[in-house]
Amino acid sequence: MRANTSGERGDQVTYRCPVCDYRYDEERGEPREGFPAGTAWTAVPDDWCCPDCGVREKVDFELVGR
Ligand SMILES: [Zn+2]
Repeated sequence: MRANTSGERGDQVTYRCPVCDYRYDEERGEPREGFPAGTAWTAVPDDWCCPDCGVREKVDFELVGR
């Protein structure tokens, strides 16, 4: 069991829609879609569509590097 709980933040995870450049940020979530701030990408349903263009699903999103 590890006691170190500091220094784990800073890896911002963002996924981008390849069509319209919409971005999903795990820290911000997407409240209008029912995902409160802090919702992990893995918690987003696989059949969730891009809220902006609606033509791309979760699997099509690209991980954006820092
Ligand atoms: Zn899109």
